[in-house]
Amino acid sequence: MLFDYHIHTSRCGHANGKMEDYVKKAIDKELVEIGFSDHFPMDVLGFSDDTICSMKYEELEEYFADINELRDKYKDKIKIRTGIEMDYQEDIEDMLRKYTNDNRWDYIIGSIHFIDGYDFSKPGQEEFFADRSIDDLYIKYFEKVKNLASSGLFDIIAHIDLIKKFGCHPEKLSLDEIYREIAKVLSGADLAVEINTAGWRHPVKEQYPSLTFIKELVKRNVPLTFGSDAHSPDDVAYNFSNVFKELKRLGLETNIIYGFSKRKPFCVEDLGGIR
Ligand SMILES: [Zn+2]
Ligand SMILES: [Zn+2]
Repeated sequence: MLFDYHIHTSRCGHANGKMEDYVKKAIDKELVEIGFSDHFPMDVLGFSDDTICSMKYEELEEYFADINELRDKYKDKIKIRTGIEMDYQEDIEDMLRKYTNDNRWDYIIGSIHFIDGYDFSKPGQEEFFADRSIDDLYIKYFEKVKNLASSGLFDIIAHIDLIKKFGCHPEKLSLDEIYREIAKVLSGADLAVEINTAGWRHPVKEQYPSLTFIKELVKRNVPLTFGSDAHSPDDVAYNFSNVFKELKRLGLETNIIYGFSKRKPFCVEDLGGIR
């Protein structure tokens, strides 16, 4: 009964399968809602050609059209939302704002993949971490998270502690303190945090955010969503049931889990709760 709001399409160049196969997989897994959230075209956001991992701007209309077609075709079986994942950078806030002002979006996910202009999250980036101070990287990364949260641009923040992807943990830095600080910023930010299960497919082998981080968020009633960051149909709702069970064991109440329609949040409990 959960939703999967983080699903890519082959347009980004690093995902496979037809969009329809993702929908079919979601129906098999008895999800009541999914949302496509492919990477927003980076060519119009000023990213350099060698860092672009998204569709081109000229493909965006097709993306909307494909989602609409599937929504219609499967309307009796599943609800399909129109989402997008946008790369946040402080210096492109105005550009991002322009593209978020489109009333076709059900939700907009903000995420951070770049530090100092470098995509640290690409597969095989272990070297990037080997050459740098992990503490410094964590400080830079979470500074960006705070800026993203205060920007007011997004409905959801993706994989909030992605910096741990390759299993590199800080030496001196107190993560508990950082989590507390971020949870405080988020408690007044009108932004949901995604429980992103892709971490279970990455070297770190846990979801984003970590359980300790989730506890801080729950303490402050920060709204949550679920996403698998699917890059192939088999990834849809990946590991959702285990993670959800674990969260319930920690005392997570379903009244802080949200969905989005035309950028307005709604509580999943209003749909009859979660099994
Ligand atoms: Zn991402
Ligand atoms: Zn993604």
